[in-house]
Amino acid sequence: MASLQSIRQWDLETDLLIAGYGLAGACAAIEAHDGDPGCEILVVDKCPVDLAGGNSRVAGQSLLISKNADALLEYQRAMSVPNPIPEDMLRAWTQAMVQLEPWIEERAREAGARYIKGTGFSEREVVREFPELGAEEAVAYTATILPIPSGVWLAFKANVERRPRIRVQHDTRVVDLVQDADTLEVFGAIVEQGGTRRSIKARRAVVMATGGFEGDLQMQRDYFGLAEAWPLGAPHNTGDGLRILQKAGAEMWHLRGFGQSGGIWPGFKVPEYDAIFMRNFFWQTFSWIEIDAENRRFYNETAELQLTHYKEKRHGHWVDTPHCRAWPVHMLFDEVTRANNCLIIKVMSWNPVVAGYEWSDDNSAEIAKGWIVKADSIAELAQELGRDPAAVERAVSEYNAACAAGQDAAFGRNPQTLQPIAQPPFYAIRIDPAIVCTGGGAKRNIESEVIAHDGRAIPRLYEAGELGSMFSNLYQNGSYLTECMISGRAAGRNGVRQPAWPGAAT
Ligand SMILES: Cc1cc2nc3c(=O)[nH]c(=O)nc-3n(C[C@H](O)[C@H](O)[C@H](O)COP(=O)(O)OP(=O)(O)OC[C@H]3O[C@@H](n4cnc5c(N)ncnc54)[C@H](O)[C@@H]3O)c2cc1C
Repeated sequence: MASLQSIRQWDLETDLLIAGYGLAGACAAIEAHDGDPGCEILVVDKCPVDLAGGNSRVAGQSLLISKNADALLEYQRAMSVPNPIPEDMLRAWTQAMVQLEPWIEERAREAGARYIKGTGFSEREVVREFPELGAEEAVAYTATILPIPSGVWLAFKANVERRPRIRVQHDTRVVDLVQDADTLEVFGAIVEQGGTRRSIKARRAVVMATGGFEGDLQMQRDYFGLAEAWPLGAPHNTGDGLRILQKAGAEMWHLRGFGQSGGIWPGFKVPEYDAIFMRNFFWQTFSWIEIDAENRRFYNETAELQLTHYKEKRHGHWVDTPHCRAWPVHMLFDEVTRANNCLIIKVMSWNPVVAGYEWSDDNSAEIAKGWIVKADSIAELAQELGRDPAAVERAVSEYNAACAAGQDAAFGRNPQTLQPIAQPPFYAIRIDPAIVCTGGGAKRNIESEVIAHDGRAIPRLYEAGELGSMFSNLYQNGSYLTECMISGRAAGRNGVRQPAWPGAAT
């Protein structure tokens, strides 16, 4: 932390400083602006304007809508058993959740955008992830704001831009907080702009909303125990907020859960892009399998795992699919699957939505680039992959025999998806673990106050969104974005209620 004494002169000042311009930062700014007509709000983001929006911009944009606080309480409590959310926080969150929808609708109206039930990109009106834990009663529906992609983010961005006392500065990376070493009270922050360090005085409070650490492989290794993992979202979400909050004396939580809340998805990592491509989950044909390091199938590939955030039930518990332990994993497929399926999802994730990569619908461009390996026989394909040809041939012929029998004795794949890998040429692409979000960070309460090691709130410091999310273990679709709203609003509301610190006015 930087001390107040180390600041000779502040370079900039504001009432409320918000670090991170994703949905959580946007909600904090909107609520602060609407809560105090006199306050100045400064939002800073490390990204240039064209890369702004964080994970919020590239999310599936699904919002959890609940009408039943008691059922939601039971459901979330059941999903969090291995690391329970404090009961007072859980209760207050459920109350906030059942009251949230009109505020979202108001934001959509203000932006001139359409709020709808459903995903906006599929027929599905609701995703209820864990029915036996109470999803049926807890989740009324999932909703979104059009357009797809990025609709929710675009609507909230438009709301920010309509409010005259919110300033947004891009290319401005928060690197430290200015604090009292004894009380931990926060007076502002140090930022870097174009290689120059500047100080920003925050007369009332600072909100940390800098997202997760999906883009920092070493942190994934140290905190999650993942050997390989790549971000589906913003690659520059590298855990800056986590490091700053550690230095600021905050207690950490949810860095590693019993399971990875957002799930470990199958993705395609190529050297040209920092983020990973999200594999399609709307298949037209099923002549494909995945094989692990030992050249064997290792799970039920066509189970609709996107509906449980890539959790499958093992030993009576919903746990992550084994991708992160089975690596290196390859997906093997034939000409039928190549011709009838685009391998990736285009409506969300960083590479198609922000980086602008247009994956070819028949995957031909990616074969030409060498991202997808092609061969005339399975043995040749295995050789290209550096795998044992006999072992890979065995895996494919065992699978094809299961298709012929109409029964997958090994993993219980749906018989309708048992289509043989039979039509040459054959293809393979490496599957790497893909991370939706990380969740961990500083412990906070429902008022978004950051908690210090002694259990007290750090004065004038708030945290919102994915950084320090309340969720660990299982997660219901649409909870992260709505958490950004609830925690962001609390941070903004409480931040501007703080009186200016003594000496701040000078
Ligand atoms: C592919 C994908 C699909 C998803 N689908 C859904 C969904 O459908 N529903 C749902 O609820 N959730 C979904 N999620 C999760 C959800 O998107 C995130 O949890 C949420 O957007 C996090 O918002 P945030 O505001 O906390 O962080 P972000 O939106 O990631 O914003 C953080 C911002 O902080 C900035 N920043 C980072 N470090 C600094 C620094 N040092 N100084 C200044 N700025 C900094 C970043 O540039 C970024 O703009 C999805 C995520 C992904 C990747």
